[in-house]
Amino acid sequence: MESASQVRKVIVVGGGIGGLAAAWELTEEAKRQGLELEVKLLEASGRVGGSIRTDRVGDCLVEAGPDCIVSEKPWGVQLIEDLDLGGQLTPTNDADRRTYVLWKGKLHPLPDGLILLVPTKVTPFITASLFSWPGKFRMALDLVLPKRKTTGDETLGDFIRRRLGSEALDKLGEPLVAGIHSGDPETMSVASTFPRFLQMEQEERSLILGMLRRMRAARQARERAAAQLAEAAGDGSGTGTGSGAPRRQIPRTMFVTLRRGLEELVVELARRLGDERIELGQKVTGIRRGADGRWEVTTAEGEAKPADAVILATPAHATAEILACLAPGIADELREMPYVSSATVTLAYRREDVPTSPGGFGTVIPKGEARRIKAFTWVTTKFFERAPADTVLMRCFVRVPFGERVPSQDELKRIAARELADILGLPEPLWARAYRWERAMPQYVVGHGARVERVEAALAELPGVVLAGGAYHGSGIPDTVRVGRERARELVTRLRA
Ligand SMILES: Cc1cc2nc3c(=O)[nH]c(=O)nc-3n(C[C@H](O)[C@H](O)[C@H](O)COP(=O)(O)OP(=O)(O)OC[C@H]3O[C@@H](n4cnc5c(N)ncnc54)[C@H](O)[C@@H]3O)c2cc1C
Repeated sequence: MESASQVRKVIVVGGGIGGLAAAWELTEEAKRQGLELEVKLLEASGRVGGSIRTDRVGDCLVEAGPDCIVSEKPWGVQLIEDLDLGGQLTPTNDADRRTYVLWKGKLHPLPDGLILLVPTKVTPFITASLFSWPGKFRMALDLVLPKRKTTGDETLGDFIRRRLGSEALDKLGEPLVAGIHSGDPETMSVASTFPRFLQMEQEERSLILGMLRRMRAARQARERAAAQLAEAAGDGSGTGTGSGAPRRQIPRTMFVTLRRGLEELVVELARRLGDERIELGQKVTGIRRGADGRWEVTTAEGEAKPADAVILATPAHATAEILACLAPGIADELREMPYVSSATVTLAYRREDVPTSPGGFGTVIPKGEARRIKAFTWVTTKFFERAPADTVLMRCFVRVPFGERVPSQDELKRIAARELADILGLPEPLWARAYRWERAMPQYVVGHGARVERVEAALAELPGVVLAGGAYHGSGIPDTVRVGRERARELVTRLRA
């Protein structure tokens, strides 16, 4: 039996999905590697989950922040399965998967086969009402344009203009593609946000040809997986989830979610970690070296908590404050990473009061339309089991210009209700819930990748201080989970050595 002095301790700062995934992976990896490890997670607010939050309003389920996970990046779904929540995974209602773009006050459907920016089917693209003839011609030029000779980062805006033209940028790039990150295409780094586009250009020269090849490969992979599953079932190995047995086939639409909302994921992580490992209401203010050479994590309440290693899974601006004294150079770099604010409003309507919906998941609204909302979702069309059959739920993303404060909840509700009345002719909602997300979305601007490299190189001087969370290597849930779990595994290996 090891003595108490051999027990290692790691403090994880930040109880969003990044910190929770890292903390849970630490406990699991320590078991696997036979390391005695004490893990503590310190969260400033009174709840875990960070941006992930699900509320119930009567019989309706309301997502305050994220509402789905892209399944093409496997790490989000993998975590759900590892937590035995695979049975709760639910697909989107792809029978009605259509997105509209509001352009000059009218709703135009995105043509069938358009993936992000890239048309992959000829007839729907040619007949699409969204694009002008010169716009369509310019997009098709992608097939023959040479690839860029120089490498190096460029803005998403420049990239899209160069490959597909400015109409594609205004109607798709800004509202749809940059909108995923609440970003401005004129500052966003294409290398850090959509590296696949660059890869496709370098490998295939054309985005259209690159996308077609990827789709073919994905289809073949799906067919192979289905064949393997059928073969395994034929072997009589069943559908159990024990090791060696094939996993239950889960619905894999492009986006998936959890039946009772995404908060179920963070609640389950917190349950697995246990109350004894999680301290809420603990704002971390700094890190310093203790007299014994270990780290000391200081909190706003004036405590100094010793640790052998610290994972900082906080937004970059919060991490900058924590590292301000210990590593001012790193803190300066982190402060340079811009964050935008955002807000969501969910509104409920009596179904009989809603004029016939155009169908589909929702609509994105380009900046040029001068609307206060930048997108809205027909929640009860996109997802199953979100509200009783007689209720229609809508969700709006309110536009918050960079550097401005998020309006009050009441103002947000007024903005959303007014815009939906104007655009769709909806009546006053039965109720509305508004969520303010101040500086919650990191912006990967041009030079982001190089900045992260500099920060991580400088961190080598502080062994055991590690960065995680969505600020550095991908800002959606799957990448945040991947980074948290990877950093945790690397740390256990290092602590064991
Ligand atoms: C409105 C909105 C919609 C989104 N939609 C999607 C979507 O549909 N799909 C998707 O994949 N992603 C989506 N995202 C992104 C996704 O939410 C993030 O990728 C993910 O939640 C980031 O997790 P995180 O742990 O890095 O950060 P956070 O969730 O921000 O968690 C950070 C935590 O650190 C805590 N903290 C901060 N400072 C301190 C301190 N000094 N001491 C202690 N604790 C501190 C905070 O209180 C917080 O709990 C959305 C984000 C927002 C805001």
